[in-house]
Amino acid sequence: MQLYNTLTRRLDELPAPPGPVRMYFCGPTVYARAHVGNARPYVIGMWLHSWLRSRGYEATLVHNITDVNDKIYDAAPGKSAELAARATEWYLQDTGDLGLGRPDRMPQATESIPQIVHFIEELIARDFAYAREGDVYFRVARYPDYGQLSGQRLDQVEQGEEPSPLKEDPRDFALWKATKPGEDTWWDASWGRGRPGWHIECSAMAEDAFGPVFEIHGGGIDLVFPHHENELAQSRALGHPFAQLWMHNGLLEFTGEKMAKSVGNVVTLREALDEWGRETLLLLFLGSHWRKPMDFSDETLAAAAARGQGFREVFLGPSEPTPAGAWESFEAALEDDFNTPQALALLHEWRDHELLRRALDLFGLGSLAELPEAPADVVDLAQRRQRARAERDFDEADRLRAEIESHGWEARDVADGYQLVPRR
Ligand SMILES: [Zn+2]
Repeated sequence: MQLYNTLTRRLDELPAPPGPVRMYFCGPTVYARAHVGNARPYVIGMWLHSWLRSRGYEATLVHNITDVNDKIYDAAPGKSAELAARATEWYLQDTGDLGLGRPDRMPQATESIPQIVHFIEELIARDFAYAREGDVYFRVARYPDYGQLSGQRLDQVEQGEEPSPLKEDPRDFALWKATKPGEDTWWDASWGRGRPGWHIECSAMAEDAFGPVFEIHGGGIDLVFPHHENELAQSRALGHPFAQLWMHNGLLEFTGEKMAKSVGNVVTLREALDEWGRETLLLLFLGSHWRKPMDFSDETLAAAAARGQGFREVFLGPSEPTPAGAWESFEAALEDDFNTPQALALLHEWRDHELLRRALDLFGLGSLAELPEAPADVVDLAQRRQRARAERDFDEADRLRAEIESHGWEARDVADGYQLVPRR
């Protein structure tokens, strides 16, 4: 199994099964309902986890929740803890509704403070960090490999963080920030009262879950710098090998005019689930390579919905054996940098119900093999149509068929009665 590694800039081979393959995928900062783009690393992490397990790997997925952060303080002054708790619930609910199950662990930053403080203490003890007036900063100049992940020269690094007169060097970044007036969550450490910086949270939570070395670290491509560069520096400064393979997914792009007009540029995962349903959303993700940007528009969503309908039609038809080697080709596509669009294209050729369902199940899409339940009023119309047909009142039967279709369903006649099939 090969995956593209941002750190080595090439396809790297995973160790043979059973591995282990320990994966840490960065989760959201919880201050609002998650953007649909936040779902991408979640979905990719869960799919990879499911695929690796099916291949006999001991795969473990950890996905964190950043529940203390400037964004949360700003969004709910004086009430940041309540907002973080509420937004964590939203995230669990919305990602749960994707129907992919749960990562093995979902640590929260606020529950990992002792580990984070201990990590900072070690960095200070080894001179990789210094405390100034309650803040603690990482000393970038003392770590010569800094910039390796994002491909930057040490002398050209710009942290992009708020400049602070407390920093020895503008390239240094915060590990701990002293409490400011109005901030309602803090912890006490030997250097003062405050809360951790974002980057050290992930180093500490990943190592708390896996120890000093693990196989895969994932997240959006926007996290390469500074977030992941800083995580890597913190951990390797202590001599920990940390993540071996870094996966960075492409971001979502919004091109659909209608979507842009109605809700601005931000679509939440909740809105996307409510409007399009989990299957269409998952098929859209599946049809895009994880490393590439993903076009989220009415057109691409409609195409994904049509794919779902195509699979449903296959399950309504007779099962036919696939040509020899079909499953092997499907595996080969996924083993080659987890090429889900290629795997998906293969599945559209299949007519073997059992094999197709097995493949779709890996991506949480086994439900496409089952007819969704029609609402009660549509079932009622279908039953009236059956009666009209039995009484040979074909005008009434045709009228009812049209009414069923206006509800987005199609009544199909089968040997023992009728079947209701969604039209979208
Ligand atoms: Zn992170």
